[in-house]
Amino acid sequence: MSRSYLLAGVAPLGRAPTDVLIRDGVVVALDAAGAAGARAGAEVVDAAGLVLLPGLVDLHTHLREPGREDAETVESGSRAAALGGYTAVCAMANTEPVADTAGVVEQVYRLGRAAGLVDVQPVGAVTAGLGGQRLAELGAMATSAAAVRMFSDDGRCVADPRMMRRALEYVKAFDGVIAQHAEEPGLTLGAQMHEGEVSAVLGLAGWPAVAEEAIIARDVLLAGHVGARLHICHVSTAGSVEILRWARQRGVRVTAEVTPHHLVLTDELARSYDPVFKVNPPLRTAADVTALRAALAEGVIDAVATDHAPHTVEDKECEWAYARPGMLGLETVLSVVLSTGALAGDAGTDWDALAQRMSRTPARIAGLDGHGRDPAVGVPANLTLVDPAATTTVEPGASASRSRNNPYTGRTLPGRIVATFLRGEPTVLDGKATR
Ligand SMILES: [Zn+2]
Repeated sequence: MSRSYLLAGVAPLGRAPTDVLIRDGVVVALDAAGAAGARAGAEVVDAAGLVLLPGLVDLHTHLREPGREDAETVESGSRAAALGGYTAVCAMANTEPVADTAGVVEQVYRLGRAAGLVDVQPVGAVTAGLGGQRLAELGAMATSAAAVRMFSDDGRCVADPRMMRRALEYVKAFDGVIAQHAEEPGLTLGAQMHEGEVSAVLGLAGWPAVAEEAIIARDVLLAGHVGARLHICHVSTAGSVEILRWARQRGVRVTAEVTPHHLVLTDELARSYDPVFKVNPPLRTAADVTALRAALAEGVIDAVATDHAPHTVEDKECEWAYARPGMLGLETVLSVVLSTGALAGDAGTDWDALAQRMSRTPARIAGLDGHGRDPAVGVPANLTLVDPAATTTVEPGASASRSRNNPYTGRTLPGRIVATFLRGEPTVLDGKATR
């Protein structure tokens, strides 16, 4: 039995406050008079001062199930996502077993539906077992119940250009997209952090910017040649932005994402030797951070994606060289993005630009039709309520994730997710998960 909710005094996309009525999973009224006329029986949410956004959509989440349920499950990761304002996430394929068959992607899809906190859209592997040697069952995954449209060997690069070309050719037939983890493996053997001044001082093996840029340059040329869609995961360098700008001007069908951590954290943090700051691609320089923020504002980078990468204490809290790369991101991303000011004008946060980078565009890239739609009459009520005046202090014990590798622990960040609605049902109310 679907309930109805009246969001009283809310500001859709930061515009003039009004009342929004949600019933039977959709938005049924979006003005004070209309909502008042139909509000009988509705639960009233006092939303004065709050901004209403289309529910956020994450192109890059690691949910770890099947295989590493000690680090995260589809349910725990879904809850973290809902608390972060998400209504849909794309679950990466580097699970155990790898999501390279219809069976595994359908399993992840069904676990997501059972949890019911966000729509979990499985990403299929490009190559069998992420091995890079032969294509995975792309067609079977596309026609499965999970209807996979995005494929990625994320965690590893599809390094063989012939394999990359074949994958692009294959998915072109159904307008799928290959999401590339751009890392030329021959240039990052044993790499521990960004190759630069800090790595030289610390004596740690470096992961040079050119290892990312070389693959992006190659793949935009391949995608242009094939005429297929390419997506670049976690862009981390200023040079990558220049290549993407060039490719866009040439009409290549390429999109790109940046993580919240690459928008705020730098390689200087490695001086602490705290493995919470070890991530792949690594934290770069302040100049890269500046370039990435500008590229996000300009739209050369299309989307923010979390690369939420939970790891157990055993895998993360050890010597830097042995620690797994990756950090949590789902619950803090909106606040981190707000803290950068990258999507703000003279009048404060540009909520329309934020909705574009964190909801509409990622939904379009992933092919998630019911998501990424602005609140309007008849639209599925996949929505997020944000309090821009509140702050959030990051406490690791308060996370819904099973893991604790949060690089923002102790920081106070702007903004707070107050509520999230998935098809009209609250998954988060008063900042707390409803189940
Ligand atoms: Zn990756």
